[in-house]
Amino acid sequence: MPLEYHPPYDLMLCGGGVVGLSIAYECASNGWKVLLVDSGQIGKESSWAGAGILPAGATTAAQDPTEQLRALSHRLHPEWSQRLLEQTGIDNEFRRCGGLYLGMSPAERATLAANQMWWDEHGVGFESWSAHELAIRLPFMREQAAVNERLRAWYVPEDCQVRNPRHIRALVAACKKLGVTMLENACVDSFETHADRIVSAHSGVRVFHAEKFCVTSGAWASQLLKPIGIETGILPVRGQMVLYKLDKPLFSMVINEGHRYLVPRDDGYVLAGSCEEEVGFDHRTTAEMIDPIKEWALQICPVLSQAVVERVWSGLRPGSFDTLPYLGTLHPFENGFVAAGHFRHGLHWSTATGLLMYQWMSGQKTEIDLMPFRVQRGQTLGMQLHTTNHSNS
Ligand SMILES: Cc1cc2nc3c(=O)[nH]c(=O)nc-3n(C[C@H](O)[C@H](O)[C@H](O)COP(=O)(O)OP(=O)(O)OC[C@H]3O[C@@H](n4cnc5c(N)ncnc54)[C@H](O)[C@@H]3O)c2cc1C
Repeated sequence: MPLEYHPPYDLMLCGGGVVGLSIAYECASNGWKVLLVDSGQIGKESSWAGAGILPAGATTAAQDPTEQLRALSHRLHPEWSQRLLEQTGIDNEFRRCGGLYLGMSPAERATLAANQMWWDEHGVGFESWSAHELAIRLPFMREQAAVNERLRAWYVPEDCQVRNPRHIRALVAACKKLGVTMLENACVDSFETHADRIVSAHSGVRVFHAEKFCVTSGAWASQLLKPIGIETGILPVRGQMVLYKLDKPLFSMVINEGHRYLVPRDDGYVLAGSCEEEVGFDHRTTAEMIDPIKEWALQICPVLSQAVVERVWSGLRPGSFDTLPYLGTLHPFENGFVAAGHFRHGLHWSTATGLLMYQWMSGQKTEIDLMPFRVQRGQTLGMQLHTTNHSNS
């Protein structure tokens, strides 16, 4: 016997990571009745596994779609964090901690010199430090600075971080207060469609009805979209992480070198990451990746050799073929939507995604143009763009 879940749901979200939760939060804050369904535990996939780094966004008018999304998100994070704290009492540890970018090799210095131009153009403040200045500011880097006097470092005070497991906890608590219905261990396996509408979503014997449906299942989004004829370039990209525990915090800024980083938390925990691997939906950690991350972490911060490695883990980032997320309508289904494929930036871009998807789904003018993020961008050129009555300019 099917078990039917009927409206009054205005919106059903299929996937409860930071993206699904942020959309639920924004929509429920605007009075919508929201149902959020997750195949496992809410917020325990990529959104839990990530580091929570929030690199500074442009303060001048951003042109590029990625920059616009980043700037809007960056503006919204402190506002959301404050609101979540007031609504739930949970401090998500949003911190304006600053970010340090190390140029150890000539190639890294060249990349960072280009970054410097980007920061300049986009009104992002930074300081450039010599090896000597770095050693004064971070004494544990003294040895590195002594053996590599060409080393340079760039410090960006506006880089922030959020402690993602706590941010998720705050979002869940706020969503509960706002009346969002949340179901765990309910894997959406198919949609029933009729003409240009999604009629229901199915999870085993459960049948969910809603006015609108939005796919927010991260790296798993293609599995839901393909059967209804929607092709995306979303694929899982594994990242591995090491968690150290120091007795007390030793530094407060995020330290980056290339794709590697150290993220310090308030209570002495330090995360070291990461890597990019295309290994399907394999959650295992491997010595081949964890060992070099540890070696790098010790090279940067030798004191970590005295710290306890509390845990290692991996997460599956929702990669997309052009690194942009998919945000918009699942044409031809006028009540079907997607917000997935945020790759390395989903925690950062989640606040803007929540706001923009609410604006888009309610037919309002969106704060930034969503055309660059449309689902059809990867499909054959002859495909007609369906515009409905949404304003997106
Ligand atoms: C190691 C690592 C470090 C990272 N660091 C950062 C960082 O510093 N800053 C940053 O901004 N981003 C970072 N990211 C990226 C960020 O974590 C992701 O982009 C973001 O979490 C994606 O959120 P999501 O909600 O789309 O996906 P997820 O969090 O993966 O959520 C998707 C949810 O959908 C559920 N689901 C799947 N299939 C179904 C189905 N059929 N039915 C119902 N539910 C389903 C899953 O159970 C899951 O809970 C990092 C990621 C990793 C792995």
